Amino acid sequence: MKFDDVIGNEEVKDYLRKSLENKNILHSYLFLGTEGIGKLKLAKEFAKFVLCQNNSEENCNCKSCLCFEGNNHPDFLCINERRRCYKS
Ligand SMILES: [Zn+2]
Repeated sequence: MKFDDVIGNEEVKDYLRKSLENKNILHSYLFLGTEGIGKLKLAKEFAKFVLCQNNSEENCNCKSCLCFEGNNHPDFLCINERRRCYKS
């Protein structure tokens, strides 16, 4: 999984991996913490993996993955502390 490339956040990554293994994926997640620790990258990689239409193949070009690559996925919404919303 791509989020293996995210440095640190081991407890969070373990939690997310177990959620996937147990097929216990929640309808939303909050990634909170200090700026610059990889929250956004981890959140995007997790969401991209979950939403992929081809079981998250390497270099997948499904519609969902292409939307993520274009920072325009309709099911991924990021809200920062200033309450600015933006898409993937
Ligand atoms: Zn895909």
